Formats: sequence, structure tokens, C-alpha cells
Amino acid sequence: MGRLTRPIVPGLLALLLGTAPVFAADTHQHSNAPAPQNLRNPGKGSPEPIGTYANGCVRGAEALPADGQGFQVMNLSRHRNYGHPQLTAYLKALAGEVEREGLGILSIGDMSMPRGGRMQTGHASHQMGLDVDIWFALDLGRLAVPAREREDFASMVDTKAQRVNSQFGPAQARLVKLAAAAPNVTRIFVNPAIKLALCERETGDKAWLHKVRPWFGHAAHLHVRLACPAGAGQCETQEPPPEGDGCGEELLSWFKPPPPVTGPPPAPKPPPPPPAACLALYAEPD
Ligand SMILES: [Zn+2]
Repeated sequence: MGRLTRPIVPGLLALLLGTAPVFAADTHQHSNAPAPQNLRNPGKGSPEPIGTYANGCVRGAEALPADGQGFQVMNLSRHRNYGHPQLTAYLKALAGEVEREGLGILSIGDMSMPRGGRMQTGHASHQMGLDVDIWFALDLGRLAVPAREREDFASMVDTKAQRVNSQFGPAQARLVKLAAAAPNVTRIFVNPAIKLALCERETGDKAWLHKVRPWFGHAAHLHVRLACPAGAGQCETQEPPPEGDGCGEELLSWFKPPPPVTGPPPAPKPPPPPPAACLALYAEPD
């Protein structure tokens, strides 16, 4: 097993992106504001992401409906189908394209909680209403709501071989390309084996692969991240990905054996306190 499946410093990686389990947020009370996972309604006011992808919140989020043209939302009981209106608009447009091209139906995974914030399980990011997980499986059909409470989505990667498996077909590759095409998408995280397959299969211009970033996990879903919307003064812009299509050395480094571990792993650090503006948002009536 290589770097594809085993984070070396889980705590750090959790902070960087959020595929590793996160720390129990509610052991870490920073104010008397309710914990964001207990809030059921978005904060009133103009839509605004606040903070960073891994430590922030969102005002004025909207729910992506459980069903729409070309998409369905999974695991509705989690209340994680909220996002900045740019994210919901993006998903509706993408689902429309997927449907028009006859690729199947988009199954939408976690977005953000109604006011964003740190989730108790599953992600370190997804906090500002600008991140979304989309399952690669396009052939699930439209499921009844109870049948959407599931985690067993098909992996696209043979982890032993460190290559995509037969589940990763042209429809999946096309989905990533369509997802990357919107100008307000800043990054798409996929397993390194998936990035490699995309690099190998793209016979034309590879420039779009710039946004597609190799990362741990992400074998059954792609994670799309939108940039801070124009004029969102409290949304902290993340460095753009490195120049180029990322199909060379950097990608290959993911397939080398991890460096030997020396000494005990560093103790995980508690997450930083949420921005004051987020605590104020959580304290507003639900
Ligand atoms: Zn994600």
C-alpha cells in the first residue's frame, strides 16, 4: 500500500483538506454559540463565505433540493446539502450537462451544513459552502430517499495496483472534465490513480488538468471546490494550484513509496478556533 491510501500525517492532512477523520468538534467549545451541526437553518442575509475552506462558515446558504434535473442528493439525513448559491447553481448546471450528454445521474454527496462550519465527522474542509463531493457512480438511477442513506459507493481505484479499475470509464473521465470547465472552479481533488488515468487518456489539450489535484482517498468521489466569489471580502483566497497540467513529476511522486517513519507520529493538534464572525453567525436564532 503506498501513499494513495495511507496519509503520513493525518492531523496535518485533515487541516489541509479533510479526507482524514476530523477531531471531535464539540469537545472544543469556543463560545456559548450553538455548535454548527445543531443548526438547521441558514443564517439570514446576503450570501457570504467567511474564513477558509478548513475553518470557516457561510451566511445565506441555500439548500440543494433533494431532487432536480439530472441529480439527486445522497444522505439527506446529514443536513449537509447546503452551499453558497454559486455552488447550488454550479451543481444544477453540471447535472444538466451530464444529463444532456446521457452520462447518467449525478449523485451529490456532502456540501456544507446550513451555516457551514466544522463537521464532526468526515471532512476538515467543506466549511464555507464552496466544496462538494460528487460520487463517480453515474448509474445508480433515481433512488428513493431512504435508499440514499449509504456509503458503499463503487471505488474507481485498484489500490494494490495504484491504477484505476474498470469502473472508471469514459463517462467518469468526462464528468471530471465537465466539472473542471466552470471558471469559478478552483480545484478538483481526485485520487492520484484517477489523475494519472486522466493525464494518460487526454489526447488533446491538457490545460484543464491544472485544476485536477491528486489527493489521498477520493477514489469513489470527486471533490469540487469553488473559488471565493467576487466581492466576498471575508472569504480567504487559497493559493492557486501550481502552474501546468500537473501530469509530470509531482504526480509521479505519489506513486513512490512513502519515506520511512522515524519516531512516534506527532500528536494531532486541536483545530483552531472558528473565526469570530462564524461564532456570531451560529449564535443568531435558528
Ligand atoms: Zn470532499
